[in-house]
Amino acid sequence: MAPRTTFQAGGCARILLEPTSEQEILAALAWTMERNIPLHPIGKGSNLVVSDRGWDGAILLVGKGLAGVEFDGPVAMVRSGTMLTDLVMQSIRRGLGGIEMLAGIPGTVGGAVYIDAGAYGQEFRDRCRTVRSCTRDGVLVERCASECDFGYRTSIFRHNDEIILSATLELVPGDTEELRTRIRDMQQARRDKQPLDKPNAGSLFKRPPGGIASKIVDEAGLKGFRVGGAAISEKHAGFAVNLGGATAQDLWDLSCEVIRRVEASHGITLEREVVFLGEF
Ligand SMILES: Cc1cc2nc3c(=O)[nH]c(=O)nc-3n(C[C@H](O)[C@H](O)[C@H](O)COP(=O)(O)OP(=O)(O)OC[C@H]3O[C@@H](n4cnc5c(N)ncnc54)[C@H](O)[C@@H]3O)c2cc1C
Repeated sequence: MAPRTTFQAGGCARILLEPTSEQEILAALAWTMERNIPLHPIGKGSNLVVSDRGWDGAILLVGKGLAGVEFDGPVAMVRSGTMLTDLVMQSIRRGLGGIEMLAGIPGTVGGAVYIDAGAYGQEFRDRCRTVRSCTRDGVLVERCASECDFGYRTSIFRHNDEIILSATLELVPGDTEELRTRIRDMQQARRDKQPLDKPNAGSLFKRPPGGIASKIVDEAGLKGFRVGGAAISEKHAGFAVNLGGATAQDLWDLSCEVIRRVEASHGITLEREVVFLGEF
């Protein structure tokens, strides 16, 4: 799974399924269910690390095969395999904003719904109206946003095992050039502050109540702290980077040690934002 995740580490999945339609997703669910094979959906793998021992089941890759956006005025119906950047770019070409700050997040719409992705004051839930998904036994479900239990880096989909198929968003009319400028500034800010030159999985930890994870990790003296090939970035203490040859276990062990040291120095228990799949 290393080439399928932005941290570029981890072992193999027993089966990789790459559906190109919702019917194929339903077929994949039925096929794995009949054989009692565990199934895990992924998008772009930008918030995910798979165990070095692999995943003894099927990975359902919800990506290019399930991408696309349709507009009806300010409402966008977007399929879950669509990259957030593509959604934003297509929206601003129509003079629609409200999600432009999400353009720098290197994941899919499915991944964004799952975690209620957000950046620079905009959260996915702010513009989301409905989400369509299907249960493991193939039942299609449509929820309005208030039923999705969105919260800081969480949603109902973190707990219910459903496959996210699509979402509708109500966007905000704006000036295309102004929106482009905001995106350029935001992307420059990301390049200046984040270690985008090294493989990483975004923020390793969630923001703890009343604090900022990167500031706390920095204060604990952990910038540059290293386990094997994984290290807390010297540039931004909220990110862990792969310095070359890191294993998934290195990242897990690094996160455990950072949690332990921050508990000792600050009395705060950091919670991982990155999803670790399989045995660690
Ligand atoms: C450089 C960098 C910067 C980042 N900046 C931000 C940021 O500013 N804000 C932010 O919120 N995040 C950020 N992230 C994290 C990440 O990009 C987001 O969380 C993104 O939404 C994950 O999408 P994905 O497609 O990569 O999901 P994946 O990593 O593939 O999956 C993450 C989780 O979502 C679930 N999932 C994915 N697709 C589906 C689906 N269709 N149905 C059901 N479950 C699904 C998976 O099962 C998994 O548990 C950043 C990451 C990187 C590498």
